[in-house]
Amino acid sequence: MAEPVTPAAAASVAAASASAAASPSAAASATLALGGKVPKLQVDHLTVKYLSKGGDPVHAVDDVSFSISDKPGCGEVVVFVGPSGCGKSTILKCIAGLLEPTAGTVQIDGKAVSGTSRDRGMVFQAYTSFAWRTVRQNVEYGLELAGVAAKERREQAMEALKQVGLAEFSERLPKELSGGMKQRVAIARTLVNKPRLVLLDEPFGALDPQTRWGMQSLMLDISRIMDNTMLFVTHDVSEAVYLADTVFVLSARPARVLHRVEVPCFAERDLALKQTPRFREIEANILNLLHGQAGKVTIS
Ligand code: ADP
Ligand code: MG
Repeated sequence: MAEPVTPAAAASVAAASASAAASPSAAASATLALGGKVPKLQVDHLTVKYLSKGGDPVHAVDDVSFSISDKPGCGEVVVFVGPSGCGKSTILKCIAGLLEPTAGTVQIDGKAVSGTSRDRGMVFQAYTSFAWRTVRQNVEYGLELAGVAAKERREQAMEALKQVGLAEFSERLPKELSGGMKQRVAIARTLVNKPRLVLLDEPFGALDPQTRWGMQSLMLDISRIMDNTMLFVTHDVSEAVYLADTVFVLSARPARVLHRVEVPCFAERDLALKQTPRFREIEANILNLLHGQAGKVTIS
């Protein structure tokens, strides 16, 4: 289920201070500990317990641990699938630095996450543009907060808009755009910070299937070009297999990692791939892993 997100909240992730540059000493000690290889993302024993409005505890994430290594030269896409309300968004929020875990740690490049950073961009399902700002001004917003000069801001925003195929719509208002285009603006607003880690929380959930397919291909192109790591939450297993190098199958709440599935490196990822027996087989396997956990579940 998507949660309402205000433009300011989304922008605050994008606009967070750039002060999180890796501390050489922390990174160096982590490198030593791991025999010379620091994972891009290391999540250890992550546990989150909320308090409901009525004061009851809600155990959302339970002892989740995984690591993702950086593969220089190739953008990596990691997808989380799991039942509705199992804690997927909660995990992403902890990685984004929007939420402090009850227990456990998140480390990026060997450095503990504390608060948001421009190096981590987040895209939500809900469209989060400021209605009164043009497309370009929306993309510039985070840079504006970070104090980037007007000319540079404009250039960087236009570059990001080009990447998502929206350059010619830069002076339009969000209300003049389709749903898919609005979501491209949200993606451009994240990309403009050149994040090394992009967190996408069911970003295409509100789009029609055809637009969704186009957006999936766009994300694959962007991931290749930017050579960054994308963490993607989706309820759509076909989308997961299409995008992912690695799929994490999560349990019902509280979220635990049930399976880690490495998706084979398909020679070509295009729409025809989704019809191939190999693709369908992997899709069916992941569906089985999901449904096997608790009988019938609603995936969302
Ligand atoms: P998902 O993204 O997998 O649908 P979430 O991470 O949004 O799940 O939520 C996991 C569980 O935690 C749900 O039961 C949800 O109702 C609860 N939850 C999420 N945010 C809060 C909050 N701020 N306060 C209390 N409970 C919350
Ligand atoms: Mg969610």
